Amino acid sequence: MDTEVKSITGCSLPHIANASITMMCVLMCLTGCGKVADVPSDTKKVEWGYEAKNGPQVWAQLSPEYFLCAEGRHQSPIDLVNPTPAKLPPIPYNYHPTNMNIRSTGHTIEVACPEGSWIEVDGTRYQLLQFHFHAPSEHTVAGKPFEMEAHFVHKSEDGTLAVVGLLIGSGRHKVAFDPIWSHLPAVPGETQRIENVTEDGSLIVDPRFMFSLNDQVEDVAPSRFGHYYRYEGSLTTPPCSEGVQWIVLTTPVEMSEAQIAAFKAIIHDNTRPVQPLNGRKLLVNSTGDE
Ligand SMILES: [Zn+2]
Repeated sequence: MDTEVKSITGCSLPHIANASITMMCVLMCLTGCGKVADVPSDTKKVEWGYEAKNGPQVWAQLSPEYFLCAEGRHQSPIDLVNPTPAKLPPIPYNYHPTNMNIRSTGHTIEVACPEGSWIEVDGTRYQLLQFHFHAPSEHTVAGKPFEMEAHFVHKSEDGTLAVVGLLIGSGRHKVAFDPIWSHLPAVPGETQRIENVTEDGSLIVDPRFMFSLNDQVEDVAPSRFGHYYRYEGSLTTPPCSEGVQWIVLTTPVEMSEAQIAAFKAIIHDNTRPVQPLNGRKLLVNSTGDE
């Protein structure tokens, strides 16, 4: 797995997942890796992306490590439709305003988070590693995509990932994203150096405001997610590893046309198509508890 993959997922994947991927790759090759063998040699070194030659339809052909992108049965994103109402508990989160470095990976704009911010799901604590953006959204609601989607990627001590998805529609300017949007890095692979912000050149960003409907932090207190979709899925980028706990907030936030356009000028169409549910349960919180 190259560093680009690590950066997009924000971390090395769990050892268990790596071991299982390796084992499944071996099994797959023992049982015939026709697709892999059929890939012309000049495409073997193609970096994954979102174009016809390297996009979601051919990810699995670019590397044996990406086989789950084609063979996986619990993949993400999905269309959020006909969810089963359930009494899901609010998800506590503890996000801090902090210094963060922002960079363009070539696939997205990613903001790396130092340790200290977390969520708790089913009694397990997941540390916030990074968040990044897709345009248009990856999850759709009854077939409808949103202008953008933010993914907040968390990891537990045992290596399990939990991602909070925040849908973003077109509307009012969102002040919470200004510190990031005023320093969007355009050059892939480079971290944007910000002068006169902090000594090490990083930004001070408060993720709590990003979930607020009117940019007031009081809006998000107490700090917990009350209304959300829940299902088990995967990374939406290679290697498409499964066992990811997905929490997609039911209430979208807004960004202005100008903010959305500024992002799309650098990154656009970094969206994997929705994947079949394949019998998985899509739950939605219906307790009305904020
Ligand atoms: Zn993502």
